[in-house]
Amino acid sequence: MKPLRRKKTCEVTHDPITGQERILELTQEEDFLSDHGSVDSAGLHQRYFRDCGCDGPIGGRCFECGAISCKSCHGRCHNCQKPICLAHSKFLGTNSQERVRLCGCCFEKITRKQNWTKIHKFILSIFVEGDKDG
Ligand SMILES: [Zn+2]
Ligand SMILES: [Zn+2]
Ligand SMILES: [Zn+2]
Repeated sequence: MKPLRRKKTCEVTHDPITGQERILELTQEEDFLSDHGSVDSAGLHQRYFRDCGCDGPIGGRCFECGAISCKSCHGRCHNCQKPICLAHSKFLGTNSQERVRLCGCCFEKITRKQNWTKIHKFILSIFVEGDKDG
């Protein structure tokens, strides 16, 4: 039986490196006349896995590799604010709660030529900022 109406919605993005179109989410809907004379709708919603392997909402795209990560994996470099995926994130921190996400470039800039005392001071300065008055 031929559907009365067909609707297809695609959420796509263009890969910055290959220039290819990538499907993020696909929604298909069909309205058709059933044997009983009613108009029925059938839908399909397809979600494509993010590059990080998760199925969550999209957080952003890595400026380095173009990978699309979910909200929990994607982040920004604390230093240059560029969007980065988990694979390209470097973390500085004393424990798992106090972690500073940096891109590879900034991580190198900060850790190179500096000893760990200075790095710890840098981390502390980030977390102390929020406690200051004004
Ligand atoms: Zn993820
Ligand atoms: Zn990346
Ligand atoms: Zn950076």
